Amino acid sequence: MSRIRIIKTNRRNIQRESITKSQMSAEGIKALEQLDECINTDSPALIKFLVGRFRAMQDIISYEDLRDAFLSGNLDESKIDEWRQAYSQLITDIILPAWRESMDQASINQEDLKDFKWDNFSDNVKRFTQTRTADLITKVTDQQKDAIASLTERVTTGEFTADELAKAIRPTIGLNAPQQKANANYYAHVKAQLTKDNPKITEAEAESKAREAALKYAEKQQRYRAQMIAENEIALAYKTGVQEAMHQAVDQGVMKLNVKTWVTAGTELVCEECGALNGITIKLDDHFRIGGFITHHDGYYTIEGGRETEVDGHAHVKCKCACTYHY
Ligand SMILES: [Zn+2]
Ligand SMILES: [Zn+2]
Repeated sequence: MSRIRIIKTNRRNIQRESITKSQMSAEGIKALEQLDECINTDSPALIKFLVGRFRAMQDIISYEDLRDAFLSGNLDESKIDEWRQAYSQLITDIILPAWRESMDQASINQEDLKDFKWDNFSDNVKRFTQTRTADLITKVTDQQKDAIASLTERVTTGEFTADELAKAIRPTIGLNAPQQKANANYYAHVKAQLTKDNPKITEAEAESKAREAALKYAEKQQRYRAQMIAENEIALAYKTGVQEAMHQAVDQGVMKLNVKTWVTAGTELVCEECGALNGITIKLDDHFRIGGFITHHDGYYTIEGGRETEVDGHAHVKCKCACTYHY
């Protein structure tokens, strides 16, 4: 019995390695291509809907709300509630249909499953949509609170007045804390540069021009964020769909399966977390674990420790891995 240590990696400090296509099974390549195709087909529409809705949601938090938040250090609780409700509605209207479409596509792609009846309202599918909805809402409200807290510090230290900062960063409402910080930095940079290059410019003029520049940047940031969310949610739902189709096929007795294999994308640079799992075959009912210890038994592996993955073949945001299922 051999014992292989998987290096625990810090996501910020990932060593990258490239895995060549020749090491991959035809089945693995197909699984990855089908995942990519689903992301490429479904994400443009989802991105467009998300950007539109983000824009509409910005009206919930006014300039005055934001200024008061910078003065008190907290966003009004009623505003957070309103934000939470609007985000919940966004999920119901936009993300949920996209999840369902990706899961359905995943089941359709399993051409080997003859006489298989896909149930897209199974307990596992319901659990996925409910848990994921709750996770997304918690995350987005936490992000907004974090962003307010970190920006408030810059008012406290006297870098900006609450009024100036509220005007400048309002278009970034809904972005995460690092994005809002980047936007505030950009605004400050443009304003300083304008003042330096044009000694006669008034402060109000410099602020107004810097705000215009920061607004354009915020639009790009909102689009980028929508793309991240769209691609991740489609990938996550697609992989959940494959996993669930396989489990349903076993339950229906149309397919015998007992193991599954992690496959990383061969065409891109794969992170060390995913690279370590490439080609690892575990029992069907076991969970893949990130950064754990892998032990080899006769023909399959077990993984102890590390962080458990809920969805086969999905280690982190933007993970383009997949999973294949065998007997
Ligand atoms: Zn990875
Ligand atoms: Zn991956």
